Amino acid sequence: MQVYYDQDADLSRVRDRKVTVLGYGSQGHAHATNLRDSGVDVVVGLRRDSASWAKAADAGLTVMETAEAVRAGDVVMVLLPDELQGDVYREVIQPGLEPGNYLAFGHGFNIHFKRVVPPEDVNVFMVAPKGPGHLVRSEFERGRGVPCLLAIHQDPSGDTQPVGLAYAAAIGGARAAVIETTFKDETETDLFGEQTVLCGGLTSLIQAGYETLVEAGYPPEMAYFECCHEVKLIVDLIYEGGLANMRYSVSNTAEYGDLTRGRRIVGDDTRKIMKEILADIQSGRFADEWMNEHRSGSPNFNELRQASRSHPIEQVGEQLRSMMPWLAENRLVDKSKN
Ligand code: NAD
Ligand code: MG
Repeated sequence: MQVYYDQDADLSRVRDRKVTVLGYGSQGHAHATNLRDSGVDVVVGLRRDSASWAKAADAGLTVMETAEAVRAGDVVMVLLPDELQGDVYREVIQPGLEPGNYLAFGHGFNIHFKRVVPPEDVNVFMVAPKGPGHLVRSEFERGRGVPCLLAIHQDPSGDTQPVGLAYAAAIGGARAAVIETTFKDETETDLFGEQTVLCGGLTSLIQAGYETLVEAGYPPEMAYFECCHEVKLIVDLIYEGGLANMRYSVSNTAEYGDLTRGRRIVGDDTRKIMKEILADIQSGRFADEWMNEHRSGSPNFNELRQASRSHPIEQVGEQLRSMMPWLAENRLVDKSKN
């Protein structure tokens, strides 16, 4: 496995080209502003009626309509929602691509599952940050970076790898690590991670712990602090020095409980389900399900979203967080800007 750092990247490979970033959401705002701050000539492409348009313009960026932005760029990074990329690609991106352009993605989904099939004379790479977009920006501003995965899908010009590496460095990724991989491996591991550990696994674990305590008659406020608030404090210790660093900091009682009980919570049943979830990702079944859900107007998705937003843990949490005003200082997410 190849790992690259800043000294391996030649930034002129992106500074000498015009870079178009399509979308100004979680990833788009971070890529566009980090590239600009790295001395790259950036254009943001959006629909004229997009709520993101004013945010990008307020950040001092040049904003154009999607089709015009594609024509303006030598490198076109697609940071639109995955479920829209296929349609937008066919309608407005492909018509504006020229031979020798670089078409880039922040996640391999549409290339790997063949929802987007670019012409053979266009270079295709991926720079996928291994972190939420808001951290890609905030870490960059602190002189740090979020690790990125780099992959090359097709390379008619013969220099797509150094261009992709320069792009990853320009958004701050090579300060942390840029790992070279394939679209397939990035797509499958990314979907697996978010479904089973990072998003699906973690939120279900938090909610199940909260509900167990509340149902047993403990105050919701205590359940919130114990099963939700403290997760960050524990994860910070793991982030800094691994599982052992966290276990060094907690009490022996906590460590003994962790080592003897953890495996009962995430045991053979959960591992079996993890394997099933991975198989659905690998076979393309998850991708088909998600694209069908989107095409039919996302009824199930909207219902689940609504139900999770109205879960009592959200109300209790909001109330408790309002008593800790420092949590709102330097917020990563400011919906008026990013
Ligand atoms: P997002 O939903 O936050 O933002 C999407 C942006 O696209 C918005 O600015 C929106 O206005 C714009 N947009 C929507 N429809 C459009 C259209 N038809 N034409 C032009 N612009 C349109 O998306 P995101 O979460 O940043 O995801 C973008 C890509 O980055 C995806 O491929 C995703 O998998 C990948 N990615 C995201 C994260 C993350 O932290 N969110 C992490 C790694 C990779
Ligand atoms: Mg991810």
